[in-house]
Amino acid sequence: MSLVVTDAIVLHAFDYLESSRILRLVTREAGVRSVLARGARRSKRRFGAALDLFAQGTAELQVKPGRELDTLSAFEVGRARADLASQMARFTGASALAELVLRFARDAADPGLFDAVATALDAIARAPVDRVRDLTLAGAWTILVELGVAPTTDACAECHDAIAANGSVMFSHPAGGALCARCSHLARSGRMLPSDARSALRDWLSGGEHPVQDASAIRAHQRLLREFIREHLADERPLRAFDVWERDAWTGADAVLAGVGR
Ligand SMILES: [Zn+2]
Repeated sequence: MSLVVTDAIVLHAFDYLESSRILRLVTREAGVRSVLARGARRSKRRFGAALDLFAQGTAELQVKPGRELDTLSAFEVGRARADLASQMARFTGASALAELVLRFARDAADPGLFDAVATALDAIARAPVDRVRDLTLAGAWTILVELGVAPTTDACAECHDAIAANGSVMFSHPAGGALCARCSHLARSGRMLPSDARSALRDWLSGGEHPVQDASAIRAHQRLLREFIREHLADERPLRAFDVWERDAWTGADAVLAGVGR
């Protein structure tokens, strides 16, 4: 058994037996881990508020080779991120990002992925309500960059030729991004990515912000992201948190809940 001390963020948590909780953490030093927090429900002293969703802190993990479940011996919270639970769009957006990380989970050290998750959650927590969705999209794409599955926007995903920076392009999920004019004629399927959507995607993939207010543009971006994630996932299990986030964007539930939840 070895002790691993690492920065960690709680991405998923559920009760286990009478007094414990099982958490899924993204960590800086050890990738995504499942951990058992013994007695977490009986004693608040040991873990405090640290076991709430999206909390970030220093975790001490007892790791046994060959075991899928580590033991969490301590978790000192640095950032609780309580703001993420106070408003529907923030909570559903953060949950969609957590699901994305968990579905592509790896147990190797990945500081870049850890930082991308922390940065995205902080951006969502701080953002005014009308920016939460585009910042969630931005966070999702930067996480995909860190996972090594980002699409191309300015080079053809098939033949690698450069594509003029302005204008709309054909986007092919199987090919892995934008297609040049020649390859888009040969492609069997694809989706037109309008010029403004393409520049938003380019900004997000490079770690920048790109405000998008229009509801139908947000929906189109969510659809593109969902299709892209689906293309890269090895299994067909539903993306539950993503579905909730995507539905909220057009039911208007958020406007109602924003008033009620405070
Ligand atoms: Zn091409």
